[in-house]
Amino acid sequence: MSDPRRLQRRQLLWQGLVGAGVLAAGPTLLRAGSPPSVDLAGVRLAAAMAAPPIVSRAEWGADESLRRGTRDFAPITRAIVHHTVTANAEPDPAARVRAIHEFHVVGNRWADIGYNFLVDAAGRIYEGRSAGTGPPFGEDGAGHGVIGAHADGHNTGTVGIAVLGTYTGAGAVPTEAALDAVAAVVAWKFGNRGIEPRGAGSLISHRDVVATGCPGEGLHRQLPQLRERSAARIAAASRPAGDDDGGIIEQVLDAVGGLLG
Ligand SMILES: [Zn+2]
Repeated sequence: MSDPRRLQRRQLLWQGLVGAGVLAAGPTLLRAGSPPSVDLAGVRLAAAMAAPPIVSRAEWGADESLRRGTRDFAPITRAIVHHTVTANAEPDPAARVRAIHEFHVVGNRWADIGYNFLVDAAGRIYEGRSAGTGPPFGEDGAGHGVIGAHADGHNTGTVGIAVLGTYTGAGAVPTEAALDAVAAVVAWKFGNRGIEPRGAGSLISHRDVVATGCPGEGLHRQLPQLRERSAARIAAASRPAGDDDGGIIEQVLDAVGGLLG
């Protein structure tokens, strides 16, 4: 149920913004003062996406004494999907994440776990490469992503997301929960930066940039659907009309209303 007066106020303010010519100045105005970054023309809406629930390194039991070297950061522009070539039905996924961490650092002599995020069959999202910060995970204070080691020559500016399991066969598909978790990470990272998941080359498989079978034929075939799922999540958070927009547009309109007096 909606409050008719509230809805009318929103509509009037929205129309007023358009009519007052705030459209041109709007995005800059909003970025300067408030977290949501919205193109008021409505052509492309970038929402303030809340981070999905994430199992932190402390929670999955990362041995921080293993990490070595320095951290490097870069603006995020793309996401790359992987599989971990491990068992598909893990009794203890956190133990698998710890094992991958140890393999990457002790075995490969990398600075830290290679992936930026990992997801399990139940849809849990694990913090991967440490940014040395708390939430939002994987970023420095400027919102730049920590550079991992997951796609040779393509680590800078990419979010490496690994689905626990092996999806080599065309029929080997991750669980719905796992696919949804990948989309949640992509929508969170892309939505806050105005990156279109369906844009050319923004959400891709490891095999799209490196000669590898990863992420397996089964998971690779899910990429078109993952792009749609990610875009739908961003759209749901940035819809300009309706009663169930999560309040983000309301916040933006309030912020602009305040600026306009
Ligand atoms: Zn890979």
